Amino acid sequence: SEIIKLINVKKVYRVGSVETVALKGVSMSISKGDLLSIMGPSGSGKTTLLNMIGLLDKPTEGNILVEGVDVTRLTSDQIADIRNRKIGFVFQQFNLINRLTVLENIELPLIARGVPRNIRVKKAVEALRLAGGDESWLRKRPSQLSGGQQQRVAIARALVGSPELILADEPTGNLDRKSARLVVETFLKLNESGIAVCVVTHDPEIANCTRKVFIIRDGSIMSVEEPDKDKCIL
Ligand code: ADP
Ligand code: ADP
Repeated sequence: SEIIKLINVKKVYRVGSVETVALKGVSMSISKGDLLSIMGPSGSGKTTLLNMIGLLDKPTEGNILVEGVDVTRLTSDQIADIRNRKIGFVFQQFNLINRLTVLENIELPLIARGVPRNIRVKKAVEALRLAGGDESWLRKRPSQLSGGQQQRVAIARALVGSPELILADEPTGNLDRKSARLVVETFLKLNESGIAVCVVTHDPEIANCTRKVFIIRDGSIMSVEEPDKDKCIL
């Protein structure tokens, strides 16, 4: 069953009098348990597409359906509520807050939902374990951890609210091969537990670990390819 469906989504950025057509009318859907990747050259619209799927920005034209409901008709608060319940995000730069501890970073999505502290801590510890992290990190600041460790904390934060879908934008772009492998292993494990995963990547060795590769060029999906499993980083 479908989690999210994009119908003819067009995105135009306007900066002053300059218009950039970042997406030309993209249709795609993500179903429960999917494991997808999006590849394409720099500037082709990958991040914009991920932002549309993640309900982080509104399309200029077209529709985005979540469980059949057209979110383009909802208010920003209603969209934020759907996003917080259904989607976890992982970014290339980790996007952790360094004045907070690792525990506080992971708890953040639950604070936004008003979950009581004892439950937040329990869920944060569990999420960090699922993401391949260690409890000894909980009281540290993100900057005291390696890049690979910080990305595992970021994955824990993405996981903590029990999302149906994890969206990752170049999650291994700043990592060495060993850490990249750990991130991919974690995504596959989460996928096996039923969470849909969609990864934007430049790295064919990452895309080849997924089950479907969307190739995007110049704001359009050019093709959808089968991965070459023998060329997965694992
Ligand atoms: P990719 O992730 O494939 O590098 P992006 O989705 O970031 O591509 O960008 C697609 C196009 O849209 C590019 O031409 C980029 O410069 C432009 N773009 C992206 N975000 C913005 C923005 N916030 N304002 C103006 N132009 C943007
Ligand atoms: P990526 O790693 O996906 O290529 P970018 O460097 O293209 O990321 O974009 C980083 C951020 O800058 C994004 O939030 C994007 O929307 C924004 N951005 C990209 N291109 C432009 C642009 N031409 N004008 C304004 N903002 C942009």
